[in-house]
Amino acid sequence: MITIILNRKKCIGCSNCELINPFFFKISKIDGKSILLKSKKKKELFILKQVNNFFLKILKKTSKICPVKIIKIIKSN
Ligand code: SF4
Repeated sequence: MITIILNRKKCIGCSNCELINPFFFKISKIDGKSILLKSKKKKELFILKQVNNFFLKILKKTSKICPVKIIKIIKSN
């Protein structure tokens, strides 16, 4: 399983995440920042747990392509 963590406050709204991974990320029409779809807010972080390992490759790519490095991917078992 994979956990995705987005530190949304630091997002600069470049849209890279949405472009390569629209299944998980969407740019908000309200503030222009990325939304991690179906995530839960915990303090300043948005967290999506129990993502299938099938998505690991594309999520790692998404994390890498973020210019401010605010998308963390944590793999467990
Ligand atoms: S790639 Fe990073 S900075 Fe760009 S919109 Fe997505 S989360 Fe924000």
